[in-house]
Amino acid sequence: ERLVVTLDGPAGVGKTTLAKRLAEALGVAYLDTGAMFRAVAWKLGEGAWDWPEDRLSKVLSAMRFSLVGQGGDSRIALDGEPVGEEIRSETVARWASNVARLPVVRQALKQAQQDIGRGTSLVVEGRDMGTVVFLDAPCKFFLDATPEVRAERRMLQLRQSGQPADFDEILGQIKARDDQDRNRAVAPLKPAADAVIVDTSSLDVEGVFQKILAHIRG
Ligand code: C5P
Repeated sequence: ERLVVTLDGPAGVGKTTLAKRLAEALGVAYLDTGAMFRAVAWKLGEGAWDWPEDRLSKVLSAMRFSLVGQGGDSRIALDGEPVGEEIRSETVARWASNVARLPVVRQALKQAQQDIGRGTSLVVEGRDMGTVVFLDAPCKFFLDATPEVRAERRMLQLRQSGQPADFDEILGQIKARDDQDRNRAVAPLKPAADAVIVDTSSLDVEGVFQKILAHIRG
């Protein structure tokens, strides 16, 4: 039986870590839809959000998305090329949020996401998985935490990997991206009516993982 688990929520709430662990535990594929918006933004470059719609529509229709690899290691490939670390910067995240406001981009990626998911069991993370793309998914979760908690986690993560990280700068970036994702006209970030809302502020990864798994299995 096909199982689709949707994980939506704001930037830096821990969706990726959790989605990968869940995919591993459930033995299903993992789909990172943020990576698709990032890949589009990266490929088209800065300012593409101001292009005329017919130009965007043309380049989007030539892009081919697929999923490569297994379980928690599944990755998005664009035109056969797995996306890499180059899309992970905060600059590319901002560009992604800018192109993600455009209906023509959302429409193309929704189609690609549904095509990838057709007939496949998966854990899928993003902003509108439960509200738009996988509306009939049986298991929907919305992860949340205050911007301060998320900024703190992101800062520790960066520092652990030896990169410089300034709390106020990260907090500013998180708030700006949240604002734009929550207030856009199409597919704004919000919990689906039938989503379980998980406040991760006072839980560690293990706690959130167990809580979600219990819901899925219950
Ligand atoms: O999750 P991630 O930080 O990789 O997403 C980057 C940006 O892509 C988000 O800030 C959001 O604007 C956009 N996005 C979206 N819908 C999704 C996934 C990501 O609008 N399903």
